[in-house]
Amino acid sequence: MVTAEGEWNVPLIAQFLPADSLLQVVGMPPPKENLGEDTFVWGLEPKGGFSLKSAYQLAADIDGEDGHTSWRKIWRWPGPSRVRHFLWIAAHGALLTNEERRRRHLTATSSCARCKADSEDAEHVFRLCPFANQVWELALPQAAHPHDTRPFKDWFMSYLASPENQVRFGFVFWFLWRSRNDLIFSDIAEAPNKLTQKILAWEVIAQKSQAADNVISLGRSGSRRDVAVGWRPAPTDWLTVNSDGSLIRPSGSTAAGGCFETGRVAC
Ligand SMILES: [Zn+2]
Repeated sequence: MVTAEGEWNVPLIAQFLPADSLLQVVGMPPPKENLGEDTFVWGLEPKGGFSLKSAYQLAADIDGEDGHTSWRKIWRWPGPSRVRHFLWIAAHGALLTNEERRRRHLTATSSCARCKADSEDAEHVFRLCPFANQVWELALPQAAHPHDTRPFKDWFMSYLASPENQVRFGFVFWFLWRSRNDLIFSDIAEAPNKLTQKILAWEVIAQKSQAADNVISLGRSGSRRDVAVGWRPAPTDWLTVNSDGSLIRPSGSTAAGGCFETGRVAC
């Protein structure tokens, strides 16, 4: 890896490493025999020894200015857990965009299937693609580019933590990704206004189900009052039943179930 003159053999190294890694290597002084044998060194400690504390700090820095805060912002997102998981994956750059697939040698082209831009990375899918931009303009205009030009990660994390906009922001993300996959894998091209209608509908459903988790309505129609509830065992001489049902409209399929409880034992 080193020439007879003691310099990095750049053409040789370039055969094995991608350009960004090559630049990192040639940015370091080449090894010299008079400096002794190679050895393992942990660069985050002055004496070169590994420490859990510095490794922990590194992990937090990789996750952003404050790794804990980013983590909590996402896990506190008040919507369906599958969308929350998706946002977590998106925040860690782990979505298989075409740029990411090309980087992993899974495809030869990284272009956007929708607008044919050269590189479909996460910022393109969720922000810069004209399609995404139209959806933002309809669903959450203040977040649309170029009204908000903050760096991608700052933009993402700040809206995700915004009490007024976080639910809608998360759903826009989720539906932009689903729509992108529908186009690529099922050849379904949905119009921005149709997708926005879905986003707004899901936001309402999520907010209602969130409220329903904590509140039930009592009384006849017109005289209802909402009461906050929580689970507690029924009194010993009582029998309680928890029930639920659902209907799938197109097929008419229905299902219902219940659970009787005596106060001590559910059956
Ligand atoms: Zn595009």
